[in-house]
Amino acid sequence: MDAPIKDDRTELVGLSRQELAEEMTKLGEKPFRAKQLWHWIYHQGKTDFAEMTTLSKDVRAKLPETHKVTRPGIATEQTSEDGTRKWLFNFADGKEVETVYIPETDRGAVCVSSQVGCTLACTFCHTGTQPMVRNLTAGEIVGQFMAARDSYDEWPTPQDGGRMLSNIVMMGMGEPLFNYENVAKALTIIMDGEGISISKRRITLSTSGIVPEIERCGDELGVNLAISLHAVRDDLRDVIVPINKKWPISELLDACRRYPTSSNARRITFEYVMLKGINDTDADAYELVNLLRGIPAKINLIPFNPWPGAPYECSSNNRIRKFADIVNDAGYSSPVRTPRGRDIMAACGQLKSATERVRKFSDQPATS
Ligand code: SAH
Ligand code: SF4
Repeated sequence: MDAPIKDDRTELVGLSRQELAEEMTKLGEKPFRAKQLWHWIYHQGKTDFAEMTTLSKDVRAKLPETHKVTRPGIATEQTSEDGTRKWLFNFADGKEVETVYIPETDRGAVCVSSQVGCTLACTFCHTGTQPMVRNLTAGEIVGQFMAARDSYDEWPTPQDGGRMLSNIVMMGMGEPLFNYENVAKALTIIMDGEGISISKRRITLSTSGIVPEIERCGDELGVNLAISLHAVRDDLRDVIVPINKKWPISELLDACRRYPTSSNARRITFEYVMLKGINDTDADAYELVNLLRGIPAKINLIPFNPWPGAPYECSSNNRIRKFADIVNDAGYSSPVRTPRGRDIMAACGQLKSATERVRKFSDQPATS
């Protein structure tokens, strides 16, 4: 692969409104130019200053010398037979992440990554087996969504209701609450009504349970919360979601009880991956409803998605159905997440693996 060309100009994507205003001041421009730029970058989706026609000719001419508006590079783009699309994006330092778009009839969610790899090592997750490389910047997080919108030509920002890319789930690679500052900055940009304008009700952040940051996330962002629970006993969760040793189930659920959106209209989602013979008995299901009592919750049962060398199998359909029935009968909605994009390794927990595999066996044809 060609080495990226060195470019020291300041990237504007990912700056807060205030930082953008400061950049304009440095150039000797009035702060209101920042408002105009914001509109061109985040509402119109433009990357070429020459097209930002409300800026004075002078500003349009001098901005490209010192500043840029870019997107992550697209290493690969694949579309699944079910319509799911996956991008492998690369950044200036050559690091890569995956982003997935999951379309539904008249809407769809973009699954965004927060880190290159993950420092946590949940035993069923492929991302967790890869060495952590680094946190993504706010610009790299927003950039994934903007590049996805480019791909569907969804600029300028359409009215709410007329969007294919209507929702965001922070469920890609990485633990978003271990990169809280950048994730918060990115989501604040994404929620801004004069730009990308996705409301906090359409954003869901998934965490394996970083308790202190859950509180900040609720107070400062107010987005929907999803918790990767996956086990109902500490002895098992300590093994499969090892961060549990630091913040055990009871502390995690206390943080959920305090989460400001935990009202009936905006339930907390509990993700529960179905692992054959590990966490899928009737007793587990009863204990789950017992634990969640008092928390407005929705339980998302995720069939385990296999990856090369994974030490688990997915529970049988019958087992998943029986588990779901118990949870349902207790009054909780418990949709079973239909795996999407498995043919392109885009399903939950599979991210990055196909790319790694192709690299490892690059002398063999990539048959996946
Ligand atoms: N780090 C955060 C965000 C990633 S979300 C978190 O863990 O919540 C990715 C979701 O997919 C998590 O719920 C994760 O537990 C789940 N997951 C990981 N590996 C999986 C696999 N192989 N099959 C199904 N779901 C998996
Ligand atoms: Fe990291 Fe989430 Fe995977 Fe656990 S499930 S290793 S926290 S990405």
